[in-house]
Amino acid sequence: MSGSAVWHPFTQHGLGDPVPLVTHAQGAALYTADGRRVIDAISSWWVTTHGHCHPRIVEAIRAQAGALDQLIFAGWTHAPAERVAAGLTAMMPEELTRVFFSDSGSTSVEVALKMALGYWAHTGQPRGRILVLEHSYHGDTIGAMSVGERGVFNAPYEPLLFDVGTIPFPVGDGANTLEALEAACREAPAAFIVEPLVLGAGGMLMYPPALLSAMAEICRRHEVLLITDEVMTGWGRTGTLLACEQAGVVPDILCIAKGLTGGSMPLAVTMAREEIFMAHWSTDRAKMFFHSSSYTANPIACAAAAANIAIWQEEPVLDRLADLGTRQQALLDRLAKLPGVGATRRCGTIAALDLEVPDGGYMSSLAPRLLTLFREADVLLRPLGNTIYVMPPYCIDDADLTRIGDVIEMAVRAVL
Ligand code: PLP
Repeated sequence: MSGSAVWHPFTQHGLGDPVPLVTHAQGAALYTADGRRVIDAISSWWVTTHGHCHPRIVEAIRAQAGALDQLIFAGWTHAPAERVAAGLTAMMPEELTRVFFSDSGSTSVEVALKMALGYWAHTGQPRGRILVLEHSYHGDTIGAMSVGERGVFNAPYEPLLFDVGTIPFPVGDGANTLEALEAACREAPAAFIVEPLVLGAGGMLMYPPALLSAMAEICRRHEVLLITDEVMTGWGRTGTLLACEQAGVVPDILCIAKGLTGGSMPLAVTMAREEIFMAHWSTDRAKMFFHSSSYTANPIACAAAAANIAIWQEEPVLDRLADLGTRQQALLDRLAKLPGVGATRRCGTIAALDLEVPDGGYMSSLAPRLLTLFREADVLLRPLGNTIYVMPPYCIDDADLTRIGDVIEMAVRAVL
């Protein structure tokens, strides 16, 4: 047994890997207790957008922590939450008029599912079935796991999960997906939940905006609620504030988290159209939205989110995304030439490549070996099986991006 009592997430302690101790971070770099500078090539699980310890966000957190640290949010409010809600309704699609706070991407999904079922129950047409896209990942709480891909992540917990309708991932022109969705929508399900344009933990699988538009159109025609999970794709990852924008799609319910606070504090929101809010609006107390956690809309987290929103409103973030996208493409073009590198793909600032191995998928034996090589080379990369992806903070400079490329090249040559 190691000296630490900490049980880490998605970590097999039995492999005995060292667990680096990080003391501080700045921009795209993490600094360890033993004096190493580590490049954060995956934005610390896809959350850090503008860079670690961004001065505007740090200052907002500092000021808020000394003013109001926490407040029950059932029937009470505070200025940071109001600023975030006003900011979000101004910058997100205007049809999304309501903002419900929670604490993580998973809970934003739980809230979305409950809102969808609440909508149908309170409008007198109860519906319960949820449609999902094959290979999706929506989080690790029970509802979020239920709507995610069944497999190694959740096999032991199967008895807790509810049944869903799975729509196949697009192949070729995506007719397989659209036909299956059309057929499933005829059965009057409650909602279809989808990661727009990029399926993250499923292997950075990408599909074109036209397909998202076509899926949204099918849902609209059959009056099936569309839930877009932009927990990973939101806040610029795909080159636009939301991935949905590229498809001209406005969902009925939108989940955002991760980059909401610039990646500094845990906070999430689920945004909804007015009809969904109004289905719960009543003098009947039994129709209120029964969901909360103790820290819902924590003021310090909201202050961080308000600072992030101000950065988006006042700084040329979209220009930075375009620039990073171009540099990521150059990185991919370079890596694509390596022997053993198969498919490469990019959506905005997310770049991914597959290594050609017999045992592909999340449990590929390659992943632990790559992880070790990356860690020893002071680059934080966490392959999804035989898929290596790069998703850095938007402030990353050319030298660090080149170093990431060098390290991937070294590791690929070493393992293949
Ligand atoms: N949805 C998507 C698309 C995600 O990528 C993730 C996390 O990676 C989640 C939901 C869950 O978010 P969290 O880890 O904050 O609970």
